[in-house]
Amino acid sequence: MNDVIIIGGGAAGLTAALSASMQGAAVTVLESAPRVGRKILASGNGRCNLANLGAMRYNGDTALARAVLDACPVKQVLSFFSGLGLMTVEEDGGRVYPACGQAAAVLDVLRLALDRRGIRVVCDAPVIRLEKTKAGFRLSTPKETLEARAVVAACGGMAGGRLGHDGGAYRLLTGLGHTLIPPRPALAALVTEKKAVRGLSGLRLPARLTLCDGTKPVEAAQGEALFTDYGVSGVCAMQLSRTAGALLNAGKRPVVYLDFSPMLGLIPRVYDRVEAAGPFAHVPLLLACLEERRHTLPREALLTGLAPRLLAERLKGLPLPEMAKNLAAFPAQVVGVRGMENAQVTAGGIRGSEFDRKTLASRLIPGLFAAGEMLDVDGDCGGYNLQFAFASGLIAGENAGKTEK
Ligand SMILES: Cc1cc2nc3c(=O)[nH]c(=O)nc-3n(C[C@H](O)[C@H](O)[C@H](O)COP(=O)(O)OP(=O)(O)OC[C@H]3O[C@@H](n4cnc5c(N)ncnc54)[C@H](O)[C@@H]3O)c2cc1C
Repeated sequence: MNDVIIIGGGAAGLTAALSASMQGAAVTVLESAPRVGRKILASGNGRCNLANLGAMRYNGDTALARAVLDACPVKQVLSFFSGLGLMTVEEDGGRVYPACGQAAAVLDVLRLALDRRGIRVVCDAPVIRLEKTKAGFRLSTPKETLEARAVVAACGGMAGGRLGHDGGAYRLLTGLGHTLIPPRPALAALVTEKKAVRGLSGLRLPARLTLCDGTKPVEAAQGEALFTDYGVSGVCAMQLSRTAGALLNAGKRPVVYLDFSPMLGLIPRVYDRVEAAGPFAHVPLLLACLEERRHTLPREALLTGLAPRLLAERLKGLPLPEMAKNLAAFPAQVVGVRGMENAQVTAGGIRGSEFDRKTLASRLIPGLFAAGEMLDVDGDCGGYNLQFAFASGLIAGENAGKTEK
């Protein structure tokens, strides 16, 4: 019999395996995919934004998120990684990355440590059944049946298409009496009315995005907006997707206003010029300003000429104050949020309050623990999701490893 079996070899599962093993437990990791840590490799555009040194920014069961990150703060997660040999650097907004800029380095140090500790990792081994027995648990994969005293469920969520699961993993825990808060996509691109983004697909522009319920601003985010043929993606758009989805579900008609002035630095200039040129300057004036700023515009905008052209079309014939207002508040009606396939994280999941906040032990089934995205916690963009997965994995693994023999 194994002391501890970890279901899922992702960020939470791998740290759980190491921390259970550090308690002296014999540990096996069962992973459904042909290899472990696929989301770690895909994260942060291949750079892996593994944590954030700033204030906690979580949704869902925020009390659980707080308890986990109080018990295992970001410094502890980073010192765990530094103990494994990973050097990290802090970038804008407290985002932490591996110093070498490669997500593979994060997975490599974890795999090396698993090897060194003699932890058995079985890939292509989806757990299809989890049963409680007198002595602990019985787990079935298509190829074998295993027994364990304690189990850590770290199956992640449904986000990320083939990198996530199809929802079946939740049934391992709901089958034992746990509750599922309906999973939905979070950190996904915004789908807008087609006409708002016509001709802009592929363009990346720095922008400030404000999501409004009618005319009331409800949330704002700044960063790179990536235009697609269906709407707007990029970190700042994804950041607004949770709230946009909630507004849409409530039957509202949210609008996102894109403010390009961080890129163009134009608004004050337009007003300056107006004072000098009088009230009849319209699009030619704007284009002149753009022309003047050509050397500071992003390369894509220069190559395609799309940003100036689109802006010019939008602004044609408007009185100057309206012109400036449009440049700073380019509206796009939000008609949807992209699905799980394109989302970075799952909102919802197994109800966090059914687990002890200090140990992540199930309050319903002794010997069962859960960690990571599988639980009803999702973070904002910026390293919060991996940080929660690592921290909760360390806690769940440690306590599972202490389960009495
Ligand atoms: C494209 C992309 C980029 C991202 N970038 C970032 C980023 O830069 N920073 C950040 O903080 N977050 C990022 N995230 C989110 C982050 O990757 C996840 O929140 C985090 O990986 C969750 O860790 P986890 O261990 O809970 O789940 P996962 O990493 O998903 O691991 C779960 C594992 O369980 C396995 N599994 C599932 N069901 C079973 C089963 N029945 N039996 C056995 N194994 C099973 C899965 O195959 C998987 O390997 C990104 C996500 C995506 C999709």
